[in-house]
Amino acid sequence: MEIILATGNMHKKKELEQIFSGHKILIPSDLGVEFDCDETGSTFMENALLKAETLYNLVKRPVLADDSGLCVNALGGAPGIYSARYGSSEDGLVLTDPDRNRLLLKNLDGVTEREAFFVCAMVLFTAPYRVYSVQESFEGRIADSPFGGGGFGYDPVFVDALSGKTAAELTDVEKNRVSHRGKAGRVMNSLLEALV
Ligand code: IMP
Repeated sequence: MEIILATGNMHKKKELEQIFSGHKILIPSDLGVEFDCDETGSTFMENALLKAETLYNLVKRPVLADDSGLCVNALGGAPGIYSARYGSSEDGLVLTDPDRNRLLLKNLDGVTEREAFFVCAMVLFTAPYRVYSVQESFEGRIADSPFGGGGFGYDPVFVDALSGKTAAELTDVEKNRVSHRGKAGRVMNSLLEALV
């Protein structure tokens, strides 16, 4: 099946291509479609559904949307659904990933409780009234300083609870095996196999 991802994030595309290897993964720009969706939901799942439905209405073909983010216990679950905008200001200033990671580490300065988890809500929209959803998590903690050269976003400051490595030190295959997106994607992929 040809699936259009409701994202322009090439890192997400690469991770999902590995999982949905039996399908052709495209992004909106591959179809010449400009996709921008205001993430006005109050949960990851609401935002994933919003993105999936908005893109489906544009392309009228099967769409997969992922809304994800990092939740830090000591920060009351922040940045959460605001992960992509963490530290950005009202006047449009958007931080780079390294700046955002520096800000997160500064906000956790002296904090010993560093447990955190990523969440991925994923929605597959194959037709109006044929909608499937799954949500998964990736448990770990926030490092004292960034480490590793792979991945994207908060990967250099997120230590995987299982391996003790930052997500940026894991290979793509290793990250997909344990990550929120990898786990959600595998469930969605097996669901796709069951669809008629
Ligand atoms: P979204 O594109 O609205 O889902 O925003 C997700 C944001 O959460 C990204 O921009 C990253 O900052 C962060 N994020 C989500 N998944 C990951 C991941 O696997 N590694 C690192 N950061 C992630």
